[in-house]
Amino acid sequence: MCGIVAYTGDGNCRQILIEGLKRLEYRGYDSAGIAILSPKNEGYSVQLLKEAGKIRELEAELGNRKMEGGCGIGHTRWATHGEPNKNNAHPHQDCKGEVTLVHNGIIENYITLKKDLEANGHRFLSDTDTEVLPHLLEHSQGSLLKAMQSLSKKIKGSGAIVAISPNEPGVLIGTRISSPLIAGISEKGNFLASDIPAVLEHTRKFLLIEDYETVRVTPKKVEIFDRQGRPVRREPFNVDWSISSAQKDGFDDFMLKEIFEQPKAVRDTMRGRQAFEELNMDEQQIKGIKKINIIACGTSYHAALTGKQLIEKWARVPVEIDYSSEYRYRDPVVEAGSLFVAITQSGETIDTLAAIREARSKGARVVAITNIVGSSAARESDSVIYTHAGPEIGVCATKTFTAQLMLMYLMALYFARAKGTINYEKFKQVSNGLEAIPDKIQHILDRSQEIKRIAGLTSRYTCFLFLGRIYGLPMAMEGALKLKEVSYIHAEGYPAGEMKHGPIALADKNTLVVGIMPHDGVYEKMLSNILEVKARGADLFAISDQRNGELEKQVDHYFAIPEVIEELSGILTAIPLQLYSYYIAKNLGRDVDQPRNLAKSVTVE
Ligand code: GLU
Repeated sequence: MCGIVAYTGDGNCRQILIEGLKRLEYRGYDSAGIAILSPKNEGYSVQLLKEAGKIRELEAELGNRKMEGGCGIGHTRWATHGEPNKNNAHPHQDCKGEVTLVHNGIIENYITLKKDLEANGHRFLSDTDTEVLPHLLEHSQGSLLKAMQSLSKKIKGSGAIVAISPNEPGVLIGTRISSPLIAGISEKGNFLASDIPAVLEHTRKFLLIEDYETVRVTPKKVEIFDRQGRPVRREPFNVDWSISSAQKDGFDDFMLKEIFEQPKAVRDTMRGRQAFEELNMDEQQIKGIKKINIIACGTSYHAALTGKQLIEKWARVPVEIDYSSEYRYRDPVVEAGSLFVAITQSGETIDTLAAIREARSKGARVVAITNIVGSSAARESDSVIYTHAGPEIGVCATKTFTAQLMLMYLMALYFARAKGTINYEKFKQVSNGLEAIPDKIQHILDRSQEIKRIAGLTSRYTCFLFLGRIYGLPMAMEGALKLKEVSYIHAEGYPAGEMKHGPIALADKNTLVVGIMPHDGVYEKMLSNILEVKARGADLFAISDQRNGELEKQVDHYFAIPEVIEELSGILTAIPLQLYSYYIAKNLGRDVDQPRNLAKSVTVE
């Protein structure tokens, strides 16, 4: 989820680009770069500057350097393919320097495209997926617009792209395929950017670029074209937001914004994941896996619990899970034929890194699952699978959790298919179920006001018991963790069947029991369990896909999730639980983006 800003006009281009990038830094800050079309002899040439790290590193490098010209592009990167170093920083160019561009998104078929291009003599300088784009746009013969219009037929994936060429001075050519792109209009020139805050200082007048449209921007004109290349008429709209609310897309907090980004985060994580090439394991090696160990901390541990259930159920491989902080000190046995999976959102969690080292030193093969490209976990493992959730600014994990869950589903299914432990009908049922998940998440988000209302009615409780069984259990644990993190209320996530062995002693009129109870094989048992606590004075809030209205009558508060096969219910129950914690914390006046005592990545023991 990089940030793009581009400008053409008679203003101070380099300053506009640097300031714009600073406003976009929340979208990633692995590296940054700018390219400006500068007059040279009779014509123009492209001046390029890139630096690893934050925008201030680029700014320092820029110093008093002469980079003159009124047309340029800028990029702040959040790496998805290739480490976050200077070489992989955008802008990228073709061999001849005809096309220079920035990109936000993922080119899924870049490996095939790169092979074909290399066979035709193109040379590549980076490890990014993006670099195929300028090569594909080369030889545009003075119409970069036409070349950009035919690009969508060649690439698979997503992208907002903005390109410049010395053959077309003063012109920005952009396109949007699933990633955001807006145009800004002003007296002193025009802009393209990933979002409004990047250029809000310079204009309040904007045009949205829609999917598969291309756009040609000159200092005086913004022309939009549809998929067939026909001109589109669109009226600009005015924005009166403040810059800070614009960065949060109008949401009050990053946490809420990130909760609402989940349909996209989950979809991006699913993209191109039928084959799991990143595992670097052929079918024979997968068939040979005797046992899987998953190591993780915090929220990632809850994704691991779901992974265990599904890998065992579908792929019939025994799975052991450990807290990383425990694993590293307990002198564990590493059996031959075991595969280790380390889950860490940041890729920098100190205990997980230590557990990876411990496992590898005992000869284990380790696969890291992380959201951060080039992180320590990615570098220190044998292979790495990225969740493509985009940067998460809120301290507590929301979209990175559901992206991890999605990877657990996909991986379990992949192992099952490779091992031949799942029949075709079941495989199809699960695949279709997975395809529908992003829309079902959206459906829940569209009803966030229902959760807000329940949170309003239940913020007074001083003790929360989140209960679940099987697929509901990891979500009960995550629901309790989320509530503790952002609201500072005491909460426990517990297996419902275990409640009578202790926690039921807590139940009184100040206790709310949250039952995560999809209509699965243990639904009836769950129902008995929550009614047992109700009988001891506690109130009940149930989350279920039970539709006949019976459950709703028996509990004090009820939220319905869309129907789904039972194995996939976790990801859908996670969403109302996140919203619930959020609204309770807001009712209590908490700082949800930076809760007390917490840090985004735990880099100390
Ligand atoms: N895939 C591109 C890269 O890794 C762009 C990343 C993004 O937009 O998140 O450089």
